[in-house]
Amino acid sequence: MNCKKFYNAEYVFDSDGVPKCNCGGIIKPDVVLYQEGLDVEILNDSINAILNADMLIVAGTSLTVQPAASLINYFEGKNLVLINKDATQYDYKADLIINEGLGKVFNEI
Ligand SMILES: [Zn+2]
Repeated sequence: MNCKKFYNAEYVFDSDGVPKCNCGGIIKPDVVLYQEGLDVEILNDSINAILNADMLIVAGTSLTVQPAASLINYFEGKNLVLINKDATQYDYKADLIINEGLGKVFNEI
């Protein structure tokens, strides 16, 4: 988190406790965690990709955490697929809804 150096998963799995960088900083996964802001450039790229998509598959999210949840509103394509264990507030927009766990669905695919 201090020096932005990247480590592979093997290094992290082999660490005892919280994985540390050789600079002494903490290593965190390269994902956006709760309470963290989204990178503006990545957010804009995501909006452009969604605007130009024919199909959007949204999987493994209850679509309740903003601003990521509202990205679905940029979709103007034909086929919206929602895969989530429970219903979401966007189910009415979907062409296909699969209410199953993500692991089970992708295993069957
Ligand atoms: Zn470091």
